[in-house]
Amino acid sequence: MIITCKKDAPQDELNKIITKFQNYGMQINQIDGKDYNLLVVVGETAIIDEKRLMCNPYVESISRIGTPYKKVSRIWHPDDSIVDVAGVKVGGKEKIAVIGGPCSVEGLEQICDIAREIKNAGGSMLRGGAYKPRTSPYTFQGLGKEGIMAMVEARKRTGLPIVSEIVSADKIDEFVENVDLIQVGARNMQNFELLKALGKIDKPILLKRGLSSTIEEWLMSAEYIMAGGNNNVILCERGIRTFETYTRNTLDLSVVQIVKKKTHLPIIIDPSHATGNWELVESMSLAAVAAGADGLMIEVHSQPECAWSDGQQSLKPKNFKEVVEKARAIAKVIGRDL
Ligand code: PEP
Ligand code: MN
Repeated sequence: MIITCKKDAPQDELNKIITKFQNYGMQINQIDGKDYNLLVVVGETAIIDEKRLMCNPYVESISRIGTPYKKVSRIWHPDDSIVDVAGVKVGGKEKIAVIGGPCSVEGLEQICDIAREIKNAGGSMLRGGAYKPRTSPYTFQGLGKEGIMAMVEARKRTGLPIVSEIVSADKIDEFVENVDLIQVGARNMQNFELLKALGKIDKPILLKRGLSSTIEEWLMSAEYIMAGGNNNVILCERGIRTFETYTRNTLDLSVVQIVKKKTHLPIIIDPSHATGNWELVESMSLAAVAAGADGLMIEVHSQPECAWSDGQQSLKPKNFKEVVEKARAIAKVIGRDL
């Protein structure tokens, strides 16, 4: 970190800053320039609160050389992280994972039927929301524990690992006991108390990007989980809010390579929430694989027109199978498999 100080800053004021950071174990070198004096700080600068430092009237500006996140960074872990979700490996250079299933679990037979279809189509995991963070309190809120237990039965019948969204920390025990991959939805990406609690367990976490979050905010949320000791984090891009209204969100595909450069974490794409339109799901899935994504998460429903949530963006099982087959062909072209 470089702290640019005003030229008229008295040396004893600079010494106060120097001593403070030295007491935190950081190394500081002062370089006196013509117009400014620079303090070059080396060490665990992530703990420095830039806004507080800017309150010092002798500080002109601050520039970070490193990133505010550590464990998430590729510098901390140069190799790709591979997250093991009940035997399904997500990340690395070879396999691409495909998660399919309905937005919401609607009942035991519904989820078991779709699970069978996902398995037959070559999907690697089953998704299904039981606790739904809906925009309106008057719409379906999910089946709760009954939905989780229906997912457990679907796993028993198909062998597919199960993914479901957690919305509050008081359900962590239920999720640890029953779910293989715990999803943190876009709306909870900055629920820091939930993230801290998830940092204390060792179940894999699927961390979706917030509705309007920058990449750095998203990675800081991953850092919250990893700072607690849970390194099993998979990122999920699900579109961000822009001025465009034709699609539900705008799919930011460039994020795949940015995330891969900055971090070692696997990243998957959710083309369903990103577009909000089932007709766009196939092309965006193929583009995501071509862009280097480590997986896809696609909403699938046997009768989308009757779905209790997100039917408009759900594929029928037959279409899901076609997407899996085409995505596999793209994966082969870039030296991967699915
Ligand atoms: C979901 O996966 O059903 C969901 C609610 O997603 P998001 O948090 O991305 O909106
Ligand atoms: Mn949904």
